[in-house]
Amino acid sequence: MSGGAQVTFFGVRGSTPCDGPSLARYGGNTSCVVIEAPGEDPIVLDLGTGLRNYGTELVAQGRNVGLHASFLVTHLHWDHVQGLPFFAPLFSPESVVDIYGPRQEEGPLAEVFGGLMRPPYFPIAPDGLDASLRFQDTGDDDFPIGAAKVRSRWVRHVGPTLGYRVEIGGVSIAYISDHGQGCGGGTRAEGDDFVPHEVLELADGADLLIHDSQHTQSEFEHKRHWGHCTIEYAVHVAHEAGARKLALFHHDPAHSDDHIDAILRGAQDYASHRGGPVVLAAHEGLALALEPPR
Ligand SMILES: [Zn+2]
Ligand SMILES: [Zn+2]
Repeated sequence: MSGGAQVTFFGVRGSTPCDGPSLARYGGNTSCVVIEAPGEDPIVLDLGTGLRNYGTELVAQGRNVGLHASFLVTHLHWDHVQGLPFFAPLFSPESVVDIYGPRQEEGPLAEVFGGLMRPPYFPIAPDGLDASLRFQDTGDDDFPIGAAKVRSRWVRHVGPTLGYRVEIGGVSIAYISDHGQGCGGGTRAEGDDFVPHEVLELADGADLLIHDSQHTQSEFEHKRHWGHCTIEYAVHVAHEAGARKLALFHHDPAHSDDHIDAILRGAQDYASHRGGPVVLAAHEGLALALEPPR
């Protein structure tokens, strides 16, 4: 199949959902990106609070009953899973969802996930939802989802965290939402410019790389133990991997719309001096139609 794919951003914020007039253009929902290709079930990257709005859209389209979808979860931090119980198609007993997520030391993914979604923290456990959820413990793997080729690799963050690459409709999308550069995000003593081969495997020549861009350089100096990276490092990864387009993602909740505009201009300037990639800043509602390269 070579019909391209559409990538839609429903949540682009990192760390915590946030709201207010100064954040309205980029949006305050947390990580959730949807890949749709003709004739294929949707693939959802992370289950942050943006997932609820995707569910609302499916209801409006009459697609919420009996939905079949796959969720690729990078890690279990709140900003990547909180939207799950608010996803309308899960109230249909005919819906079936495969949830791929990082293998956990504490036990099977389904059990660990159930630990963060149960009383008294939340009234419903995963098995209390009407839909069938099938958890898939994932690590460094390569597997198909329908016609899509999916690659998952461990990336440096706080706790077990995956990045994903999805090849579908003749295009490739890499998703590395939370990625700590240098020794801030891993146990190995690595320089701040080092790009691990797992990350290059994910982003290699990608038509679109969606990458962590949480910190300015000065913020990073104080927060390197948070497991995120600078905007410049996101550009560096995209350039080193030969990605065609970079979407700055996982915006810090403290960054206003105007601040992200300025960050984007700086990143575009930096990328143009290096000879690529094309840089954009992801915002809620952004839909990118990716066409296979000719
Ligand atoms: Zn995050
Ligand atoms: Zn995280």
